[in-house]
Amino acid sequence: LLGLLANLPDWIGALRGDGSKPPNAEVLSCIRAWRLPQPVTNALFGRDPAWNALLRGAVYLITDPATAGEYEAAAAAALTAVGLAADVAPAAPTAPDAGLLLAKAAATDALGCAVSELLGPQPTERYQGIIAALLRAARKHGGYDRALYAKLQPRDGSLTLQARCQGSPQALTIRRLGLGTADANQLQQALRTREPVVVHLAADGGDGLAAALGVDELLAVPIQPALAQPSFLLLDRGLGLGAIELAHDGPLATTLGQVGTLLHGNLLLRRRFARAQRFSLTDPLTHLFNRRMGVIALDQEVARAARTARPLSLLMCDLDYFKRLNDTFGHAAGDRALQAVAELLRKTVRKGDTVCRLGGEEFLVVLPDTQPEDAAVLAARLFTAVHVRGEELALPLTVSIGMTSSRPADTGERMLQRADHALYASKGQGRNRFSIDVEPSEDEVRSI
Ligand code: GH3
Ligand code: MG
Ligand code: MG
Repeated sequence: LLGLLANLPDWIGALRGDGSKPPNAEVLSCIRAWRLPQPVTNALFGRDPAWNALLRGAVYLITDPATAGEYEAAAAAALTAVGLAADVAPAAPTAPDAGLLLAKAAATDALGCAVSELLGPQPTERYQGIIAALLRAARKHGGYDRALYAKLQPRDGSLTLQARCQGSPQALTIRRLGLGTADANQLQQALRTREPVVVHLAADGGDGLAAALGVDELLAVPIQPALAQPSFLLLDRGLGLGAIELAHDGPLATTLGQVGTLLHGNLLLRRRFARAQRFSLTDPLTHLFNRRMGVIALDQEVARAARTARPLSLLMCDLDYFKRLNDTFGHAAGDRALQAVAELLRKTVRKGDTVCRLGGEEFLVVLPDTQPEDAAVLAARLFTAVHVRGEELALPLTVSIGMTSSRPADTGERMLQRADHALYASKGQGRNRFSIDVEPSEDEVRSI
């Protein structure tokens, strides 16, 4: 109490919040030690003095109405004992009054604004965007002078600070920061409880996190605490020397952390979903469409060909003696050969054509709007190109191709069967060639 009285003018100036007399470190530590209402210099205050007075009173009550009453009674008794009895002792708060409700509404309003801004109409597609929005919201709605983003490195327990996102007038020179035991414990507690923690300057002013950032105290808000590499928002009022109190700063900070965690989790999920979708339709080795997608594309093209009465051709390609190639040159060489052939197919066909890996060393090429003669030219070009590519790779690489074109009332399945037949003919005739599927003659059909 004596400490407080000694600094009373400072303290009153700070509590008045007119910015002319920021509280010094001694006053701040006094306020903290005595759990007194903190000087209020945050964004809640506007230009209207009546409103400000009301808010100041309300924030006083909000800080901790119960202990405030206790302190008032104890202070009155202490003052009376030394003959300094106050004429009018402020009444201890009983029921929430209008000021308290107004301040609560304002605080809820700031929280609501922050959340609705963060969840905005179009959530960002990039992690950096999420972080930047969180830091902006912290500075705007929480009245922090500086907001930083830091990643906890699980390997050595150090913090990596991202200066790019700080949006602060204060320059940041450090990037990577080793943590002492006290700071590390604090941050671990934040991760465990998923709640923000206040990190204070060490008693000896030592080289902890607060000292490195040049502040007396800061608020560390965990983001994605369950991840192997969690991160934090580091918020401080170092510039205006405003205090940080969990009772006052906790709700908005907790909400920022939770919304940040949610947005990040959401982004990860969306990315995973897109990747899963891509993988379910493509082949990981060659990045061509897989069998499923090939069949879908073929069915679509068959339907379109029927609708538009345009031709449609199909090539089924199978690499020759591929098992022997694997056995002789190794599976890795086989994989490289498959990738080379996939690349070659992709480059040779036109834009509207579809190439897919049917499985193993078998590929399907769907050629919409292509007459059988043109498909035959492409097939001839392909088996020559594969042979040449094989020579370049010093691998005995050749391909056999079966070709077919659509017929009236055709189906994708029937086209596949005919192309497969033609391919079989190419294999039977010695491989490294292409065969065109021929419609069975009327006699053949009758004899079946
Ligand atoms: P044919 O000329 O009659 O087509 O003979 P082949 O040896 O090419 O045909 P077969 O069906 O007997 O063998 C296909 C081989 O393709 C067997 C398998 O090891 C190989 N293969 C299938 N998928 C892969 C793959 O992803 N990577 C590699 N390296 N080899 C594969
Ligand atoms: Mg083969
Ligand atoms: Mg095969």
